[in-house]
Amino acid sequence: MKKLLLVFLLSPLFSVAQNEDSLFIKKIADQILTGGYAYDKLRELCKQVGPRLTGSQQMYKAEAWGIANFNKFNGVQVIAQECKIKRWVRGGADKAVATIAGKKMNLDITALGNSMGAGAKGVSAPVILINSFDELEKRKSEIKGKIVFYNAKFDNTLVETFYAYGATGRYRWMGPSRAAKYGAVGVVIRSMTHATDNHPHTGSMGYNDSFPKIPAAAMGLADADKLESAFTNNKPVSIQLNTYGHYISDSIGHNIIAEWKGSEHPEQIITIGGHLDSWDLAEGAHDDGAGCVQSMQVLQTLYSLGYQPKHTIRIVLFCNEENGGAGGDKYLEEAKVKNEKHLFALESDEGGFTPRGFTINDNGVTLKKLQSYIPLLNRYGVFSIEQGGDGADIEGLKDIGAITCGFKPDSQRYFDMHHARSDVFENVNKRELLLGAVNMTALIYLVDKYGL
Ligand SMILES: [Zn+2]
Repeated sequence: MKKLLLVFLLSPLFSVAQNEDSLFIKKIADQILTGGYAYDKLRELCKQVGPRLTGSQQMYKAEAWGIANFNKFNGVQVIAQECKIKRWVRGGADKAVATIAGKKMNLDITALGNSMGAGAKGVSAPVILINSFDELEKRKSEIKGKIVFYNAKFDNTLVETFYAYGATGRYRWMGPSRAAKYGAVGVVIRSMTHATDNHPHTGSMGYNDSFPKIPAAAMGLADADKLESAFTNNKPVSIQLNTYGHYISDSIGHNIIAEWKGSEHPEQIITIGGHLDSWDLAEGAHDDGAGCVQSMQVLQTLYSLGYQPKHTIRIVLFCNEENGGAGGDKYLEEAKVKNEKHLFALESDEGGFTPRGFTINDNGVTLKKLQSYIPLLNRYGVFSIEQGGDGADIEGLKDIGAITCGFKPDSQRYFDMHHARSDVFENVNKRELLLGAVNMTALIYLVDKYGL
């Protein structure tokens, strides 16, 4: 009875709060869907700056662009947080020619990020097709002197495509050294995608220093299928591989930060971000220009609606996520040095597609609290908040007590373009991008207003 009374007494208050929140979130949505600037900012970043490989001139141009945009908000402090970066360069035009039963065929390839080039003459060798590391181990005596073709495919039965990416990503990351251990002279991989075109998809790899640093490249699915069918038909395959990747001297990059001081808990920080760097092959529109401009949109919207945050809100355009992670590392390091209190961190780094939900590193009270906001968000497209991944640039903040959160858009088209030349502005839909920003802004508003 007592409990019932309590519910009765509290419920009008609750509905007033809900009503107030739903009205404010409607204002957020209307502002973004009619006057949001994320799409125009993305056009600037993609078309006026372009590809933003760590350490490149365009990366610095992008940093200046971020600073200029943040400087437009009075009372918001703009910080360029310095981080040391390793500079990998592609070094030339990647090329591969396959010879299948005496017939030559050009492969559309891209060297893997951080891979070392094939030398002045390139590498020419017979190819062995390997589907998995288990198979590599079984056939280790056949690897010496060969180019290993890792043909691990996306599992098409997985509707959440990041699981398919997770399962095949290890061939890109550690495949070259695993093959070099048994004497391979090069590696080519089937790109991590289910795109129906033939674009190759690059991405980071890392060498194990105990083995030779052999060249490594990715090819698109049409080429990978042709090679596979040559093997099915018992035709001999060899490849001439020419890549030129190498490191040049270390340099300096920056996390570009807009800091908007909180009125009640200025010492408690809410971080919202994406990464400003991209691969060199395309404009980095979905990965991760979209996450950058959506994060900027959160600030632009709350600011223009006259909102006064209770906690300190930081928008961070992270440096060097793709091939080093120096920006995320530096942000965490500084937070530790300054003994900062990080309440919540949200990253958008899964493309500018239709919003579906959020995932957080919690399975308890905070998750329940955030899930109670779903009725306020679902008219804008968010129907789920679950325990799950966050974002490479912010994940370390959980070590210092933050709840870390990843924005989850629809994942069906992300890997069509991810790290490929097709990741351009034209492949981003304005409405989808803006709706993502609506949900991010609404969530930040609720987290700021009610705490965690
Ligand atoms: Zn990314």
